[in-house]
Amino acid sequence: MCVKIILMSNYVSHLECSFSKKRYTKDKIHNLSEDSKPILVKYDFKKILTDYSYNDFVNRHTDYPGFWKYLPLLPINSPNSIIDLGELITPLIKINVTKFPKNSKIFVKDEGRLPTGSFKARGLALAVAKAKEFGIQKMAIPTNGNAGAALAAYASKANIESIVLCPDDTPKININEAALQGAKTIVVNGLINECGKIINDLKDEMGWFDVSTLKEPYRIEGKKTMGFELFEQFNKNLPDAIFYPTGGGTGLIGMWKAFHELKKLGWLNCKLPKMFAIQSETCAPIVKAFENNQRHAELWKNANTIASGIRVPAAIGDFLILDAVRESEGSAIAVSEQSITDFRDAISNESGLLMCPEGAATAAGYMKALSMNLINENDQVVLFNCASGLKYPMPKITHTINKDNFSKKDFN
Ligand SMILES: *Cc1c(COP(=O)(O)O)cnc(C)c1O
Repeated sequence: MCVKIILMSNYVSHLECSFSKKRYTKDKIHNLSEDSKPILVKYDFKKILTDYSYNDFVNRHTDYPGFWKYLPLLPINSPNSIIDLGELITPLIKINVTKFPKNSKIFVKDEGRLPTGSFKARGLALAVAKAKEFGIQKMAIPTNGNAGAALAAYASKANIESIVLCPDDTPKININEAALQGAKTIVVNGLINECGKIINDLKDEMGWFDVSTLKEPYRIEGKKTMGFELFEQFNKNLPDAIFYPTGGGTGLIGMWKAFHELKKLGWLNCKLPKMFAIQSETCAPIVKAFENNQRHAELWKNANTIASGIRVPAAIGDFLILDAVRESEGSAIAVSEQSITDFRDAISNESGLLMCPEGAATAAGYMKALSMNLINENDQVVLFNCASGLKYPMPKITHTINKDNFSKKDFN
């Protein structure tokens, strides 16, 4: 195999406010911009192209087979900053179940196989690696579960303290795994945005770095690697549509950013996918804004869904999600709670893939997009199964037998 190792600082040119486009230095750690909007990382594409071809980018000889391998388009200063928990390129698994049209071409990107069992590993790995470079000692996060677990794991490995605040009805496993992996884990009688407010109120006094979704520039840099993986897995091509369960929207915005970076490098020449932001009918601020032709979403009252990862009543990057959805000619679609459980059960049952509720929501979203004629039956689509189904409560088993007194009919 062709081995190409280039020692580098990194290829970041500067940071930029996603709203005002005002520039910020890469040499300092940031939260939101002066306009209270997310700050994004910008790269020097010319410089990347003098050192790398596309083949080098994907085949780079590396000890790290997972998302860390895309180093030229990551913001860390050196391979020494990598925090290794055994990341991998997550598989694309073709599925079909009786609920889908017979000739459908559906691939599930199974993110539950990443460290800590969810794609939150991608974002937090990068955020923690950068925080480490800046000498940060305490990181705090509001979470519906998976982000807290990922922060806990990567921060512990990097020897950084982590503080996790989650709603009191977060799935138990999520709360426990964060605590067991070393985070100071605190349960709050409120929703994720209310946990975020507590962190914001206390962070200066406590010396916490706030690592809330899109309130620092680097989680999205980790999440965008899903876009690189898809492009590589589809052999320099992309699916017709991507269905993404949308909470804070980091992954959707991140993939859209990744596609444009590959395009600017001249490596991507295919058509871009339609991006579908999927939410639950019982927490659908982005869908409401999309339908009302607004650029920003209003706070969703009484948010509630079994898909806890997308129970996000207000997203700081709302306009970035909506921009990507509109630019891609996709849509924002709300699905019912019943359809989430129905698809979770059907896919788990028929395809051997244990879906998390958020992943199941994308399947319901796919069927809804079909019925609205937004896509065709023979379009290639990717559904995101963002976390291991093992993290969530599952249906109860009701069949029991008595070991001393059973018969054939017990097995009917
Ligand atoms: C966080 C999360 C989401 C939402 O991801 P965003 O990029 O924040 O929109 C969806 N599903 C699961 C399982 C999650 O943990």
